[in-house]
Amino acid sequence: MTRNHRTRATRGVLAALIASALLFAAGACGTSNTTQVEQPDSQTKTPEKTGAITVVASINQWGSLAEEIGGDDVKVTSVLSSTGVDAHDFEPKTSDLATLSKAEIVVANGAGYDTWATKSRASDSTLVSAAQIVGAMDGDNPHLWFSKDARSGMAKELADAFSKARPKKKAEFAKRLKAWQAEEDDLDAAMTKFAKAHPNASYAATEAVVYYLMSDMSFEDVTPRGYEQAVANGGEIAPADLQTFQKLVEDKKLDVLINNTQEATDATNMLTGAAGRADVPVVDVSEQMPDKYDTLEDWIEDLTERIFMAVDPEYDDDSNDGQTDPDAPADGQDQSGQNQSDGSATTGCSNGDGTGDCTGGDDGSNAGQQDPGK
Ligand SMILES: [Zn+2]
Repeated sequence: MTRNHRTRATRGVLAALIASALLFAAGACGTSNTTQVEQPDSQTKTPEKTGAITVVASINQWGSLAEEIGGDDVKVTSVLSSTGVDAHDFEPKTSDLATLSKAEIVVANGAGYDTWATKSRASDSTLVSAAQIVGAMDGDNPHLWFSKDARSGMAKELADAFSKARPKKKAEFAKRLKAWQAEEDDLDAAMTKFAKAHPNASYAATEAVVYYLMSDMSFEDVTPRGYEQAVANGGEIAPADLQTFQKLVEDKKLDVLINNTQEATDATNMLTGAAGRADVPVVDVSEQMPDKYDTLEDWIEDLTERIFMAVDPEYDDDSNDGQTDPDAPADGQDQSGQNQSDGSATTGCSNGDGTGDCTGGDDGSNAGQQDPGK
């Protein structure tokens, strides 16, 4: 059921990534829009377009990434940016469809999340689809922007599509992709570090919006399956499933409750209320990227930090987790041993600020090299 579905989805994602990695390696075009891509060799007669590429993204998460990779060489419009509408049932206006139809490149999520976007694009437009890149199908968890693999795959694919549209700017796109990837790598490193320090962390969610993110951080999903499935299918939640969930929260059998504010219902309000009474931390998240963030990375980084703080208020992301994570031993005995062997003791000594202070409060490995003030 949901479990199988997930395993399948994850495996599909991995397989597709390997496949797309091979495609990149071979220099092939990763997009699967076979209909309108220029003929590979012979047809060079179409005059090369100049000026900013008209890019229309179905959702602002991917639109933001397109802006990061495209810079001044793209003009990006995102159709769905509001965090106040039900994204899963979003119906674009006629003007949105008109905008989509004029795009040179359409950036979509896929997996049934934004079918309207791919339907409305012009036949000579290029499609960059997250679901196609990772091999997600309709029915799989569609919140792909929260998957590190999907983000990296999309960034590469966008750079590729932009380079094909404006070959003269290829170096610019490559440069931005590299800068973006460095940021993504930092984010991945922070998530991995937290995951290592908290191997037994668990969560439940009012809707499986951050499923990939939590999976990237090795959190155990303890959301009752019946509830989860009903929500994913847009169906009625059985009272028994809701009760099971409520009991789970009341018994504090989870480290954090993730609340999708964009898909709030009476049931989700009941669950967050129960969490409040039981002192279970709640982290709010939306489907679309809120206005206040400049980039997809900024948003996800902030979200992960809120999750870190909810699970472990003592955790210091910018410093030495071996030193500042008094909860680590409670998570499992293996952990303290691990910290000693591969944690601060080695990296702190060799990579630090050169003082050789490996045991003091200064981590060095992170705080020394990167902007400690953040
Ligand atoms: Zn959702």
